Amino acid sequence: MQLSIVAPLYNEEESVEMLHESIVVAVSDAGYDYEVIFVDDGSRDKTLQIANDLALRGDRLRVVEFRRNYGQTAAMAAGIDVAQGDIIITMDGDLQNDPRDIPKFVAKMQEGYDIVVGWRHNRQDKLVSRKIPSKIANWLIGKVTAVPIKDNGCSLKAYRASVIKRVPLYSEMHRFIPAMASMTGARIAEIKVRHHARQFGESKYGLSRIYKVLLDLLTVKTIVGFAQRPLVWFGLLSLPFFLISLVAIVTALIPLFLGDGTIIMALAGTGVLLGAVGIFLVLGGAVGELIFSTGKFDLAKLSTPLVVQEFNLSQASPPDNQVS
Ligand code: UDP
Ligand code: MG
Repeated sequence: MQLSIVAPLYNEEESVEMLHESIVVAVSDAGYDYEVIFVDDGSRDKTLQIANDLALRGDRLRVVEFRRNYGQTAAMAAGIDVAQGDIIITMDGDLQNDPRDIPKFVAKMQEGYDIVVGWRHNRQDKLVSRKIPSKIANWLIGKVTAVPIKDNGCSLKAYRASVIKRVPLYSEMHRFIPAMASMTGARIAEIKVRHHARQFGESKYGLSRIYKVLLDLLTVKTIVGFAQRPLVWFGLLSLPFFLISLVAIVTALIPLFLGDGTIIMALAGTGVLLGAVGIFLVLGGAVGELIFSTGKFDLAKLSTPLVVQEFNLSQASPPDNQVS
């Protein structure tokens, strides 16, 4: 399988059929061997039923069903999990992304990139509640993660399957995939994409998303910065405390050495206190090591060397209705 196209759907009944049709047209024209994966994120309208009907009519659509609404990132992660293609394309299910851009993504991937990110340079969303917060967020994400990307929030992205499958995805984390994947040394490119105003249904998000995204940014920063050896980072942090503690204690003891028979209690106390802070920092680092190695971040996967295989797209077989 060459291409997997993954779209999360939450109450998108008016869009599903058109979305499927436009994806099929865009990728069949290009002659790829592909599959489409729709993830129904617990929709309460007819989305699931329509998607299942479409899947019954053709072999190339698979539907993943959630019992309840888990959120866009979880839906994307589930789709990525079952995807079998060498290249995985994610996109929104509300027709705001345009499947006609897919061949551009594939072409860019063939240049040797691991992730290609869409940039909605002509974004058709509200200015105050969407475009301005997004501009600030993208600037901040670029600064904090040191992976500058103009439009992290654009769902239309392409990934080398072996890269995306090792990135942990939860909360609103799909926005930070490029930053997380950069840990593996992934090569990232950005291309301009079309963007349409929402035709049907309504946006599932309000301003509350901003807070979640900010907290996720903190998590990502911690993972990207500290993941490899938390103990080393905490150890470095504790170093000034140990140094000052040592100086304070030695100074406190000077009168004793001079035969005074006393010690400077205030300094000695400060020294012991700072030394204790240093010890707690080191212990914090040790606990960090434990959490990171046993927790839900599969960091072992993120830091194993990435072996790159060429895509075999040149021998694209013409699409037929067989499942391969
Ligand atoms: N979505 C989802 N689960 C959710 C919220 C959204 O699967 O809990 C899907 C939604 O159906 C759409 C995509 O994620 O396909 C983007 O959502 P939306 O259009 O509401 O976001 P916006 O474009 O307003 O940022
Ligand atoms: Mg949308």
